[in-house]
Amino acid sequence: MTDERKNETRFIFVTGGVMSGIGKGVVTASIGKVLQFRSFNISVVKIDPYLNVDPGTLNPVEHGECFITEDVWEFKPVPDSDERIYKISEIDQDFGTYSRFLGLDMHPSHNITSGQIYLTTILGERKGRFLGKTVQIIPHVTTIIKERLIEISRCENLDVLLIECGGTVGDLESSIFLEAFRQIKIEYPNRTALVHVTLVPYSQAVGQQKSKPSQHSVKMLQSLGLNPDIIIGRSEKPLADDIKQKISLYSNIPETAVISNPDLKVVYELPLLFEEQGLGDYLCEMIDLKAKLVSYNEVTNYSEWVKMINIYKSANKTITIGMPGKYFNISDSYISINDALEHAAAHQGYKTELKMINLSEDTNVGEELSDCDGILLTPGFGERAVEGMIQSAEYAMDKKVPFLGICFGAQLFYVAFCRKYLGLKGANSTEIDPDTPYPVIDLLESQKVVIEKGGSMRLGAHKIIVEKHTKLYKAYNQKEIKERFRHRYHIQERFITEEAKQKGMVVSSRDETGKIINSIELNREDHWMVGTQFHPEFKSRPYAPSKLYFDFIKACITKKAGNN
Ligand code: GLN
Repeated sequence: MTDERKNETRFIFVTGGVMSGIGKGVVTASIGKVLQFRSFNISVVKIDPYLNVDPGTLNPVEHGECFITEDVWEFKPVPDSDERIYKISEIDQDFGTYSRFLGLDMHPSHNITSGQIYLTTILGERKGRFLGKTVQIIPHVTTIIKERLIEISRCENLDVLLIECGGTVGDLESSIFLEAFRQIKIEYPNRTALVHVTLVPYSQAVGQQKSKPSQHSVKMLQSLGLNPDIIIGRSEKPLADDIKQKISLYSNIPETAVISNPDLKVVYELPLLFEEQGLGDYLCEMIDLKAKLVSYNEVTNYSEWVKMINIYKSANKTITIGMPGKYFNISDSYISINDALEHAAAHQGYKTELKMINLSEDTNVGEELSDCDGILLTPGFGERAVEGMIQSAEYAMDKKVPFLGICFGAQLFYVAFCRKYLGLKGANSTEIDPDTPYPVIDLLESQKVVIEKGGSMRLGAHKIIVEKHTKLYKAYNQKEIKERFRHRYHIQERFITEEAKQKGMVVSSRDETGKIINSIELNREDHWMVGTQFHPEFKSRPYAPSKLYFDFIKACITKKAGNN
């Protein structure tokens, strides 16, 4: 913290008020975009105050999708010691939002959890880091938090580091991070800004937007020694002038620092809305950033973004994709998949209608899928809903519905094929049925010795060698690609017999050793059916859709045209 001259990075903290789930991630990403329009080198850190070391062991129903990074980070809680390392590549779903808006592949160390901070504190204490001292939340734990942030800003030579704190101001578990923010604000005057995102509800009864919840959450921030510099009001409609005045009065900020964040049809439009309200210039002035460019219209990036929004706005035909799966209690469980489908469709003039089919024993799979133009079989873990997922793959084969299976979805496509075309009754994955007579999906060799749960799967991006003359090759048009993985089990090649090949089963890619099958497909002209062990959705961007998702949607559009 002492070598200040070398580090000119500005820090923008983003906190949330009133309640969680109001789109702080999208706000953080949009602020980042506004800075990118000005050519600044930025990055984002997400703080998750829970005690898990990473979100990899969380059920998606608890916390939404688990995002996978390109790199696997070897986190050493006590640097330069003989302490063990933790492999981290599974991180918060907000990183999906950041990378879709900002086009950045952030390192997993940008997701800081309380679990990591406390590991560093406690294991560090055992190594004598604080010898002679009573180890306390302030200053020891807060110092560790600050060190993590400063290290990122310094190593990556950033103009601006945005730091989003998960949860809501007032939560006990996030207060320690807010205390670290307070200290950084004092240590680096004129180089920090605090953006507070609150909910501004609309009262039907009085026909008005209400500022009271925001006032309360600002008071809560103030009680922690923090004052917001900018307030972003999340609401259905743009904030009314009198509401802006009220919020400004109670928060000690000018009215120009109260910014509307209304519901939008195309979420990627938010940076443009921020620009219209002058947020970019206001922020740059506040943190003393001299704009690198003169006017927005001359910024290629900005005009490209405007063009892109128009693609989404003018997509007016609809394609329906069935998504049989099991984590649909919240809408975010497969958010990167939902978005990848949307990107691929928009660039072909279509909107997606996603039919999430929350499978149970009573689900009539055929009936549910009958109005779908394509089927995306979802990733997942464990036994529940598996038979319904297998039936969905069978349905696709019967009716020649375009099909994309992702990870678990690809594995269950293979199970369905082995049962249906090879007569292997009871074929299964050993994850589901350890005693199956036909273990067509089984543990990866490297997984046989693994006992620990967190960060122990085959993770991160790996090279994939694509077979020519396959649907996969047609999509990527490349012999070698890199996509991200998160799995323990894999497709067993010994069941791909001559008979299987005759019935259409094709291995379309493998790993570098040739031992791991990375994708399969059906070798049929009239049916697009592909399953990938990897997750192309994590690399899909609103301006550059995943090539495989693009071809899947293309097949769905063709199928739909044929049906009508
Ligand atoms: N449960 C499967 C495995 O571990 C699939 C994982 C996934 O869908 N991400 O291999």
